[in-house]
Amino acid sequence: MDKKYDVIIIGAGFAGVTAARELCQAGFSVMILEGRDRIGGRTWLDDRFGSPLEMGGGWLHWYQPHVWSEIMRYGLQISSSPQVKTVYWQADGIIHHQSVEEWHQMMEKGMKAFLDGADRYFPFPYNPLKEMESLMEVDSITAGQKLEQLMLPKELHELIYSIWCLQFSSSLEEVGLTQAHRLAALVNYDWKLVLRTSSAFKLKEGTKMLIEHILHDAKRAHLRFSTTVSSVKKVKEGYIVSASDGSEVLGRAVVAAIPLNVLNKIAWMPPLSLKKQEASTQKQNGKGFKFWAKVRGIKDPFIYIAPANHQVNYIQVEEIQDEVALIVGFGCDSVNFYPEMATNIGEEMQTFLPQLEILELAGHDWVSDPFSNGTWAVLKKNQLTKYLAELQRNEDGVFLAGSDYASGWAGFIDGAIESGITAGRKVSDYLLGNVNK
Ligand SMILES: Cc1cc2nc3c(=O)[nH]c(=O)nc-3n(C[C@H](O)[C@H](O)[C@H](O)COP(=O)(O)OP(=O)(O)OC[C@H]3O[C@@H](n4cnc5c(N)ncnc54)[C@H](O)[C@@H]3O)c2cc1C
Repeated sequence: MDKKYDVIIIGAGFAGVTAARELCQAGFSVMILEGRDRIGGRTWLDDRFGSPLEMGGGWLHWYQPHVWSEIMRYGLQISSSPQVKTVYWQADGIIHHQSVEEWHQMMEKGMKAFLDGADRYFPFPYNPLKEMESLMEVDSITAGQKLEQLMLPKELHELIYSIWCLQFSSSLEEVGLTQAHRLAALVNYDWKLVLRTSSAFKLKEGTKMLIEHILHDAKRAHLRFSTTVSSVKKVKEGYIVSASDGSEVLGRAVVAAIPLNVLNKIAWMPPLSLKKQEASTQKQNGKGFKFWAKVRGIKDPFIYIAPANHQVNYIQVEEIQDEVALIVGFGCDSVNFYPEMATNIGEEMQTFLPQLEILELAGHDWVSDPFSNGTWAVLKKNQLTKYLAELQRNEDGVFLAGSDYASGWAGFIDGAIESGITAGRKVSDYLLGNVNK
């Protein structure tokens, strides 16, 4: 057995590394165990076809207070995705193109109707369960059901459906309507800002630089890569955390900074509460994909939205040089996408740009990835009201941290940092005996 630490943190994504910094700075000894051979988790700046590309999370915004505070703290530079003049969208078999302003105007009524009530259900977005009674009613409705109820014209229905699928990395059949309302509440109930905050600004030097800064400030933390935690067992002195390579470490407290969808892969002794287990078994619903492509034949930046049942349902131009463009795209179901990636993207793009030539492709299948088993956190109907409070509750010395459990920007980098900070504080109080054990 290795020496004893105050805290063992499982996972070196933004939540785990932030919690490590907070705890180190509070004077505790910390060991981080990470299953992959890198930090960053569902953010991953990787070199693909000669460019550093964000394979996971990348866009952020000053409306996201936790990540923005870190950007200011470390003096990092921001860059923006190109300003788009034209939006192409396909619905009911027809390809339309409009200016961004026309497109916004066309969707205004439908989007507002979809988000109607968000201010009542989420008057305080960082206290998402405050209106529990009315929330329970609305949380039993899926985003898809709500959209159906609005009886919008077919084309508009298809378009709005597709935009929310993009936002939720999944179809809307299982996603709780509360997920859309919660997001809207974070940006003063303005649907256009929901889109803007999640696709316009990024770190000039990538997310890697930010997480490296945070880790650097976790000065005394130890970090082990390629160490997949398989069990956590409570003993008299604290918790024995065992990895699949047979190694063991002992900690007075444990922070599981891992995604909800893989929480149950660890054998917890004693078991986690039934509700936590149930939430992890049910899984959150983010199961789409993101890809990058280098293509020839594009002159101006645009965005393109296809119906949600297409393999690819969103494309955005990120860079253009001499008619060679870097595009980023998303789809809401990763099943069947990866093996046929080139064909799927080619078929979708050639429907409106027949001259387009795909030069190179890159992507990562986060749903099959054993350390995430999903993309970003999007709760199914009833999960918010049933599980969030429980997921945020520690069980003696075991704490969860992660974007999936955040109060505010859950599913975003911001939420991971928020959760890392709050978990750090709670663990610190626990270790100092400031709370009932
Ligand atoms: C394709 C994609 C696009 C996204 N786009 C955006 C975006 O534009 N903007 C935005 O803000 N957010 C975006 N997100 C979401 C954002 O990246 C995540 O919400 C955030 O990074 C999650 O951080 P985390 O620390 O909570 O979890 P993770 O980053 O998942 O970190 C958890 C860590 O735990 C490790 N781990 C898991 N199990 C074990 C185990 N048993 N033992 C040891 N280690 C383990 C994992 O390897 C991982 O490193 C995107 C995500 C994806 C996948």
